[in-house]
Amino acid sequence: MRSRTSSIPFQVNRVRRRVPALERERLLANPGFGRLFTEHMVRIPWDADRGWHDAELTAYAPLSLDPGTSVLHYAQAVFEGLKAFRQSDGGVAAFRPDSHAARFRRSARRLALPELPEETFLEAIDLLLEADHQWVPSAAEHSLYLRPLMYASEVTLSVHPADQVTFLLIASPSGPYFPRGVKPVTVWLSEDFSRAAPGGTGAAKTGGNYAGGLLAQAQAAEHGCDQVVWLDSQEHRWVEEMGGMNLCFVFGRGPDARLMTPALTGTLLPGITRDSLLTLGRDLGYETEEGRISVDEWRAGCEDGSLSEVFACGTAAVITPVAAVKSVHASWTVGDGGPGDVSMRLRQALVDIQRGAAPDPHGWLHHARVSSAT
Ligand SMILES: *Cc1c(COP(=O)(O)O)cnc(C)c1O
Repeated sequence: MRSRTSSIPFQVNRVRRRVPALERERLLANPGFGRLFTEHMVRIPWDADRGWHDAELTAYAPLSLDPGTSVLHYAQAVFEGLKAFRQSDGGVAAFRPDSHAARFRRSARRLALPELPEETFLEAIDLLLEADHQWVPSAAEHSLYLRPLMYASEVTLSVHPADQVTFLLIASPSGPYFPRGVKPVTVWLSEDFSRAAPGGTGAAKTGGNYAGGLLAQAQAAEHGCDQVVWLDSQEHRWVEEMGGMNLCFVFGRGPDARLMTPALTGTLLPGITRDSLLTLGRDLGYETEEGRISVDEWRAGCEDGSLSEVFACGTAAVITPVAAVKSVHASWTVGDGGPGDVSMRLRQALVDIQRGAAPDPHGWLHHARVSSAT
C-alpha cells in the first residue's frame, strides 16, 4: 500500500499478527514512561546522493548497527518529543506537531544533519497514528509519547557531517508523570557544571546535552534534590533551565499575577510547552514577559513574597511546581512549598485543550486519520 499525500512516497508494511486486544489493554493499564513501544515505526534513510528515500512504515524492531557507525562515536544526532492524546470524542490528536517539525529542522541544522521536510515529519506521524491508534491510552493523564530521532548512520571513524543518516519515529504509550498527583520538586543550583555555552548546542534537542548533564543531576541527588537548575556558563548567576524543562516565575498573585520566563538567549532550549503557556497565560489575562532573573533575585523575591510561584514546564510533565531551592551558599522555599494556584490553573487550561475538553483557539491539535476499521 502506498500513501500518496506526502512529498515523498511511503511504503506501508503493517504487521500481520497484531497484539491481541486483551494483551494490549493489560499493557496499557500500567505503561510507565518510555519502556513500552507500539507495534510499528517509521524509517526514512537519507544519503548525500539520493536525499530522503525509501520511506516506510514497518514493524517496530531492534536496529542492527555496525560498531563503526558514526553516531556511536561522535553523537551526531537529534530528537524530538511530543504527545498524541485520546480526545473526549474518541478520536486521536497530536499536540503542535508542526512546531515540533520546525524545531527538529533547526536542531538538525545545528548538528549538520539534513533537514527533514515538515510535511514528511507530519506524514510520518499520521501514518504511525493510523497504524497504532489503538495504543493511544484513554485514561486521564495518559498519552502516546512520540519520539522522532535522526542519527548519523554512516560507518566511518572519520569526523565529518555524515553522508548517510537515518530518521526514525517510534511511539511509547505513557502513564501520568505524577501517578500520585502533581508533586513539587526541590532543585539544586549547579555551579560546578554548565549545560550550554554561547555558540554551543544548548538550543538544539540533541542527546549530548543530556549526557553532559547527568553528572550534575547525580550531584543534585546527592544534595537531596530532585532536579538540577542550570545557570549561565559565564557568571553562574542567571537562571536558564531545569533538567530537561524550561522555568517560569510567577510574580504577584491572583488576576494581577505576572509570568516571567528566561529569554531564549541561544543557550536555552526553546520549549513548545513554554511557548504554549505564554500564549495561554495571555489568554487568561496574565501579563507575560521573557526576561532574565538572577539567583539573588530569585531568593530575594521568595523572601519578600513578591515571587509567589515557580514552575518548570515541558512535554513530559506539562507543569512541575518548584517547592524549594538549594545551592552551596543558601537554601530557601518558594511560596508555601505547595503547587501554586496560577501554575495549576495554567496546567489545567493546557491539559483541557490537549484532551479536546476545551476549545482550541490557536489550532494546536492535529487530528489523526483514525478509522475504527483498522
Ligand atoms: C525538550 C526540552 C525542553 C522542553 O521542551 P518542550 O517542547 O516543552 O517539551 C526544555 N529543555 C530541554 C533541555 C529540552 O530538551
